[in-house]
Amino acid sequence: MKRLYTLFLTLGLLLALSLTASGAGNGVRIFVDGVPLDAPASYISGSGTTMVPLRAVAEALGCTVAWDPVTFTVSISSPDLPEESVSGDSALVVLDPGHGGAHNGAEYGGIKEKDLNLAIAARTAGLLEAEGVTVRMTRTGDQDVDLYARSGLANTLGADLLVSVHCNANVEHDDALGVYTCAYSEGTEGWQLAQMLRETMLESTGAADFGIEERPNLAVLRTAQVPAALVECGFMSTPSELEMLVLPEYQDKLAQGIAGGILDFLEQ
Ligand SMILES: [Zn+2]
Repeated sequence: MKRLYTLFLTLGLLLALSLTASGAGNGVRIFVDGVPLDAPASYISGSGTTMVPLRAVAEALGCTVAWDPVTFTVSISSPDLPEESVSGDSALVVLDPGHGGAHNGAEYGGIKEKDLNLAIAARTAGLLEAEGVTVRMTRTGDQDVDLYARSGLANTLGADLLVSVHCNANVEHDDALGVYTCAYSEGTEGWQLAQMLRETMLESTGAADFGIEERPNLAVLRTAQVPAALVECGFMSTPSELEMLVLPEYQDKLAQGIAGGILDFLEQ
């Protein structure tokens, strides 16, 4: 996400620069890193909007641009970052707030799971960063993230681990309670991570234990090439637990538990 922000920031800057450079004239000049860009399609429209060809600018920045004429979709992929800008010696953790955008996840009492997941994951990121851990999130806002992009980010970065953060729901029982953790299969590093998360989350929250389980069919766990675990922070379908899940203080406790398990895993 940061990479995209960087790109958009850069594009914004370029736009401002080109506006300054163009003055009142019609031709828009574009410079990328100080080098003039030969982009003949740039112009200022009748309504005063500066039109800059996205492909030319993005490609000059090292990005790849794909255009789907059926869905009118432009896909821009950022260039690979140099190693040192990802992390030095510090551990690198990918946190994945489940769902997002059009995918709400569970929804009870007007509360959407995607929002709880993000709140808890963001708090966890803050705690880890305070401990010197580099954290990347699969989303930092309410946007769609492709199922495979979640493990993909961890794989691409060669992260030390991946934790996917969710909240649970049980459509048959409105009294199910507790923290649940899972990993691809027993005997993996991901399983160890899930065990540590289970322990630290139960300790920090005082919540009930809904157990630990192998989940070989979950794409985010199956496709992760780094130790990966998924946590379900509690049952949204159980009114008393939902009441807790929305509390910032309780989200902090969950975050402390998740961060604690991650730090335990990194230290071993
Ligand atoms: Zn979920």
